[in-house]
Amino acid sequence: MITASESCPDTAPAPIADSPADCVATTAPQQVAGILPSVAPLRPAWVEIDLKRLKRNFELINQDKPAGLKVLSVVKDDGYGHGAFRVACTALECGANFLALSTLEEAMNLRDRGVKCRLLLLGDRQASELSWCVAHDLTCCVSDLETVQLIERLAASSGKRVPVHVKINTGMNRYGVRWTEAAELAQHICATKSLTLEGVLSHFAQSDETDKTYANLQLSRFNEALQQVDQRCATIQLRHLCNSGGFLDLPQARFDMVRLGILPLGVFPSAVCRRIPGIEAVMSVKARIAAIQWLRPGESVGYGMRYTAVSTRRIAVLPLGYGDGFPRVRNQGCALIHGQRAPLVGGVAMDAVTVDITDIPAATLWDEAVVMGRQGNDEISVHEMARLKGSVSYDVLTAWRSRLPRVYLT
Ligand SMILES: *Cc1c(COP(=O)(O)O)cnc(C)c1O
Repeated sequence: MITASESCPDTAPAPIADSPADCVATTAPQQVAGILPSVAPLRPAWVEIDLKRLKRNFELINQDKPAGLKVLSVVKDDGYGHGAFRVACTALECGANFLALSTLEEAMNLRDRGVKCRLLLLGDRQASELSWCVAHDLTCCVSDLETVQLIERLAASSGKRVPVHVKINTGMNRYGVRWTEAAELAQHICATKSLTLEGVLSHFAQSDETDKTYANLQLSRFNEALQQVDQRCATIQLRHLCNSGGFLDLPQARFDMVRLGILPLGVFPSAVCRRIPGIEAVMSVKARIAAIQWLRPGESVGYGMRYTAVSTRRIAVLPLGYGDGFPRVRNQGCALIHGQRAPLVGGVAMDAVTVDITDIPAATLWDEAVVMGRQGNDEISVHEMARLKGSVSYDVLTAWRSRLPRVYLT
């Protein structure tokens, strides 16, 4: 039997609280449970990040690229779920020249952790963010005159010369000044004392598919805009267009710098783009078997009775679910246990996934299961998870939620 003090050590085994104030613990945990270690144990489900692989991937990319080509490491959305700070440190260690983020908060977090290198904010800024960007030396992409003038004033009053990158819309049609109007904006920036036109960029709508027609159209528009900018401004230091797909498949579009997000993480942006041999996925998702059940013929497992055993089956419960970012599938997918595929049975719950281990008799309680990644000679790839989810690899990587602890292999 579980007593109240065992199940909830910081609550006195008292009557049910009448008011919120009564819910506040009056007894420190130590007084109930004895001396606790300073760090609570990690839950038996986690995301493993192999920083040695990350480093190797960056090194393989460095060997693959021309020596002069600069690398900007895109670490938005917490480094695609890998931890922005750790990915950033490895990228810089491997020679990256710039980091990029999506939000002011992401960039400030890196500054707060002592990252001093150049940071580029992708996308457009609200007016209210600009003073923070200038104060923290965050480089903005600009695509309209109003924003440029605001930065100009902030720069002048802080006595800084602030670098900006002009974002050109060449066909993505999200952010950016239309390619035919870019030179005018660029000229205004070049003519302004408190600003430096450090960079000019655009972004591909499709760079990793076999058909490069649209990518080549965007490239020609980018070139056209650059030519016009060149006529009105001194040389631009950083012209950049490529994401991972462009870097791999469009060498004619690399210019001075490439913006790499997914490739250093060991995941190719598509099934058809060029491969760099040796690149391997950095992230794995693992859990330990938290319970084992025997099902008799006719018995079912989980919510909604979505799976019914036709013969005696042995079922393992893995303690993670859609609340951790696991796709909410049923009777689809699998986990690797003892190097073998254990098919998922029933539905995925918020905190539990059930897999059939009848054919893995050696599997026992607390054995390690790989939900994404490699075990033995088999691998559940990010792309396989993406098919299961009906989505793309980017979504799979970023969907693992922060309640799954990140464990770093160094
Ligand atoms: C996210 C992003 C990238 C990185 O793309 P990958 O395909 O992950 O390499 C590059 N540039 C911009 C503007 C982005 O938003």
